[in-house]
Amino acid sequence: MTFQELGLNSDLLKAVTDLGFESPTPIQQQTITLLSAQKTDLVALAQTGTGKTAAFGLPMLNVIDCESKSVQALILAPTRELCVQITNDIKNYGKYLKGFGVTAIYGGARIDGQIKDIKRGVQVVAATPGRLIDMIERRAINLNTVKIVVLDEADEMLNMGFKDDLDIILKETPKEKNTWLFSATMPKEVERIARNYMSNPMELSTGKKNEGADNLEHIYYMVQSRDRYLALKRVADYYPEIFGIVFCRTKAETQEVADSLIKDGYSADALHGDLSQSQRDFVMKRFRSKTLQMLVATDVAARGIDVNDVTHVINYNLPEDVENYTHRTGRTARAGKSGIAIAIITPKDSGRIKDIERIIKKKFEKKSVPNGLEVCEKQLFNLVHKLHNVEVKDEEIESFLPAIYDELKDLSKEELIKRVISEEFNRFHEYYQNAPDLNIQKGAVDGAFGNHRTTRFFLNMGHLDGFNINSLKDFLADAAKVHQRMVFNVDVKNSFSFFETESKLVDNFMALNSADIEFNNRKVSLEVSNRKMKEGGEGRGGGGYKGGDRREGGGYRGGGDRREGGFRGGDKREGGFRSGGDKRDGGKRPRKSGSFGGGDKPSFNREKSFGGEKKKGFGKSKF
Ligand code: AMP
Repeated sequence: MTFQELGLNSDLLKAVTDLGFESPTPIQQQTITLLSAQKTDLVALAQTGTGKTAAFGLPMLNVIDCESKSVQALILAPTRELCVQITNDIKNYGKYLKGFGVTAIYGGARIDGQIKDIKRGVQVVAATPGRLIDMIERRAINLNTVKIVVLDEADEMLNMGFKDDLDIILKETPKEKNTWLFSATMPKEVERIARNYMSNPMELSTGKKNEGADNLEHIYYMVQSRDRYLALKRVADYYPEIFGIVFCRTKAETQEVADSLIKDGYSADALHGDLSQSQRDFVMKRFRSKTLQMLVATDVAARGIDVNDVTHVINYNLPEDVENYTHRTGRTARAGKSGIAIAIITPKDSGRIKDIERIIKKKFEKKSVPNGLEVCEKQLFNLVHKLHNVEVKDEEIESFLPAIYDELKDLSKEELIKRVISEEFNRFHEYYQNAPDLNIQKGAVDGAFGNHRTTRFFLNMGHLDGFNINSLKDFLADAAKVHQRMVFNVDVKNSFSFFETESKLVDNFMALNSADIEFNNRKVSLEVSNRKMKEGGEGRGGGGYKGGDRREGGGYRGGGDRREGGFRGGDKREGGFRSGGDKRDGGKRPRKSGSFGGGDKPSFNREKSFGGEKKKGFGKSKF
């Protein structure tokens, strides 16, 4: 079926063609056919991304009288972003209609400008409930002339507590009007609205109730809660071309995850209600232009956002209300494209996965968090692909080439390829080679190391050397070239310490003895300890280990100085033991207490790809 066959006027057809819409989507076919034929109330159960906006926008504009400057159609939407988006879409559909005007009314922006827009005379208003009530109370808008009211994302408006506001607004509109309600889900409250405010509404639905798109894959990773963030980074590293939305449960968590990602060199930013409107606009602009790879958002802020080509929706935490899962995942797999919805869950969430499966009528696939090797492989081939497709600026590079060819003349093509690739690959490989398995092992308990065999070590360094638990972990992980998480149950005493590691890593740590690592002129020394943590108390432990004499024997005469000048502020901590760019996330930085453990270092060419001015490159590639 074509748009022509649906009976749209020629100005609308022209606009639709300009937008590149070749044929109407199923919901558009249904609504345009129905609403062109009769004036009726309508309840449409439609997922986001199905062409919903045009499904109400086109039939609405088809009956608008552009000669009159009164408000004839009112669209209510839950968020400012959605409101602006709808307004822009409607503007596009109506661009050939002479005298047509649409405006957005939403909180967070100056009200006087919005009042002026209304005074100028527009036929369509898209509004968030709160600000519209403000306008009504100021008598700045007259809704007596409204013929069509659209309640978009009605379920979400009710979720957000707009029930009373809707009651107030709908009372301001004439009885003789048509109400079109669009909702992705149909909870009881939405049915109540339909009952109370509509007369004999026609019901339309595309797909079955609450079902998500078919081209959407649902997967989950089961990790311990402390590994959530590391798992997120793995996902981001495993999908180098990710263009996704990461959903968090609270504004604070959203900001924290976004901050951590930014700090760790990812192209990410936060979107939540504590940001000013201009901040939110700025973030959205960057995301839409694909300057940002990952938008970290709350449910409310990201509601209804339509950004093309979102590849992944990541549930950093499952939504409080499982129905919101459908809303979240509706951000991807839009307009016939495919998408991946990922949930990072802990064992406690298993029941909720089942609830969601019941709602979406689809099974999740349980997948393993990609391991280091898998991430490296993905990154490697992504790099190869990029190399193959890189734009060569012949003119600009030409003058350098003779010298470059000369320098590399003894290398064969194969050698050259290996080296170019290794330049990037080594860093990633080095970081990931000892990266821990983040998947929950059978029988493992959250917060413990379950059935891994562990070994306890004694170390001849302690508080007097300027160490605390975190800095000691950093130091040991760096020195032994293992992941920070592999150093646990750390007990720092004044002059010595204990820690545990997985037994398979004993050799890594024992190697430090022969590596002659010195610290403030003292050789770092480790021993396997058979003592349990509590037994290694300082009072008794000292004599048992080489550390004892240090306290007694004046080895630290200048104890205070050592602390100051020692490890804490020293170059070593910044410089670490690893090479190259790995330091950023090597855990050497002070970390926020209790927040993201860090240490799961990303960043194969991350800065190069996405940071700084290179962001342009990302935008350009458009995947
Ligand atoms: P919506 O469900 O209104 O948020 O629309 C989802 C996306 O589909 C938007 O990017 C629209 O521009 C696009 N879209 C809507 N209708 C069509 C159509 N008939 N053909 C192609 N794309 C469409």
